[in-house]
Amino acid sequence: MQRRSLLKTLAGLSLLPLLPACSRAATPAAVPGATVARLDKARTAWRGQVSDAAYRVLFEDGTERAGSSPLDNEKRRGQYVCAACHLPLFRSADKFDSGTGWPSFTRPIAGHTGSSRDFRMIIPRTEYHCARCGGHQGHVFNDGPPPTGQRWCNNGVALHFVPSDETLPALRS
Ligand SMILES: [Zn+2]
Repeated sequence: MQRRSLLKTLAGLSLLPLLPACSRAATPAAVPGATVARLDKARTAWRGQVSDAAYRVLFEDGTERAGSSPLDNEKRRGQYVCAACHLPLFRSADKFDSGTGWPSFTRPIAGHTGSSRDFRMIIPRTEYHCARCGGHQGHVFNDGPPPTGQRWCNNGVALHFVPSDETLPALRS
């Protein structure tokens, strides 16, 4: 009987990696480690300034469907800026193909993201967001490739890609 319940437990644990890697997130709180001044703007004020799909992810802590973002397969050199306030968050040099269906990076641009713990699912996860506007971007996991071993799993709809031969857009307030 004991062995049976152990097996049951193990079977339950083995299902955990199947949970969506970028699913629901907690509301961002403080911005520890951020070097960018936080924009004093209500979440609802972004409505209409970003697409409805982006708003759901950024300001209602939603998650896009895996494989739905063209940025998952974006391979050009450039930077990824926040879809709301345009703060650069990632560089193409740090992007890798995680096979999850979400754009993934080994690290963000230093100081441009903040994070908080998210307890909405079985395992606590670390949610991260744009340090400037607070818009939710994704979750960070410790199963990424070198050099950091981290996987920053991002919603593509929360980012805009800017190729290296184009000028970065002005920050939005
Ligand atoms: Zn932002």
